[in-house]
Amino acid sequence: MTLPSCSSCPAPAVYLDRETGAHLCADHLSARVEATFRATLRAPGGLSGGESVAVAYSGGKDSSVLLHLLATVAAPELELSLVAVTIDEGIAGYRDETVAWARSLAGRLGVEHRVVGFEETCGRDLDRLVDGREQRACTACGILRRRLLQRAARDLGADRLATGHCLDDEAESVVMNWLRGDLYRVAGVRPEGAGGLVPRIKPLARLAEKEVVSYALLHDLAPELPECPYARHALRTGVRGIVHRAERAAPGTMARVVAGQAGLEARLSGLLPPASFSTCPDCGEPVLGGTCRACALLGGALDNH
Ligand code: SF4
Repeated sequence: MTLPSCSSCPAPAVYLDRETGAHLCADHLSARVEATFRATLRAPGGLSGGESVAVAYSGGKDSSVLLHLLATVAAPELELSLVAVTIDEGIAGYRDETVAWARSLAGRLGVEHRVVGFEETCGRDLDRLVDGREQRACTACGILRRRLLQRAARDLGADRLATGHCLDDEAESVVMNWLRGDLYRVAGVRPEGAGGLVPRIKPLARLAEKEVVSYALLHDLAPELPECPYARHALRTGVRGIVHRAERAAPGTMARVVAGQAGLEARLSGLLPPASFSTCPDCGEPVLGGTCRACALLGGALDNH
C-alpha cells in the first residue's frame, strides 16, 4: 500500500485532518501544532511576555507536550519563567511511573519541577480516601488536584497556571457541565482569576487530542505508561465516547461545541451577576459560598496536615 504524500510537500504523510481532508507530513504537522499553540498563547487573556508560569504537569502525553512547547517554543520567545508542578495523588500501580517520567522530562527540558503529594497535604492518599467508594475517585481527585495546583501556583508567585486541556477536553467539559446542571459553568459567570485564584491558561485548547498525541509520538514525548485504574469510573470517560462518535460522524463537531459555548457566554455576559466569592471558614481559600468542596470532602482536614 502506498502512503499518501503530504498535501504541502512530497514527504510521506503521518496525519490526516478529517475535517479538511489534508494530509500532513511530520514537519508540517509539527509546524501546525506549534503555530496553533503560539496563537492560543497570545490570544486575549493569554501571555504577553515576561510572566512566571506554573505548569500543571501530570506526566501524561498532553501535559508532556504542553511542557515541551512552553519550554522550547514559548519560554525563549516570551522570556517566561516556568515551574512544573506534578500532583502525586497516591494511586498504586500508576503514579510512581508517571512521576518518574515527569521528573525526567522536566530535567531534560531544564524546568524546575515540584511534586505535591495528597498524603503530605491532605493527610491521606487517594486510594485510602476513596476505599470502598471507588466510583467517586475522579470527583475527589479533581477537587483536590485543582486545589493543590492553585495553591502551588499561588505559593510560587505565578502569574498564570497553564494546563494541558486540549480541544477534546474542552468539548467534553461543555457536555459534562450540562449533564451535571452546573449553571455557573454553563453560563460562564466565573471568569478566570476571580476570587483571587491564579488565572489559568490552556495553550492546547485549540488542538485536537489526536494532533497532540501525534506530536508527542513524533517528539519522543509518549512513553508507555500505565493508565489510572479509576479512569473507567469517570463521567468524562463516558462523555468522551459520545463526543468522539459525534466527531467521527461529523468532523468539526468538537470545535463547534466549544465555539457555541464561547458564544453563549458572550451573549450572557452582563445579563447575569458575576459569581461572588467568599472565604471557606475552614481553610480560608476562595469559595462560592459555604465550606469549600475540598474541606467538605476531607472533613476540614486539608490544612491540618
Ligand atoms: Fe484522578 Fe480520575 Fe484522572 Fe485517575 S482518572 S488521575 S482518579 S481524575
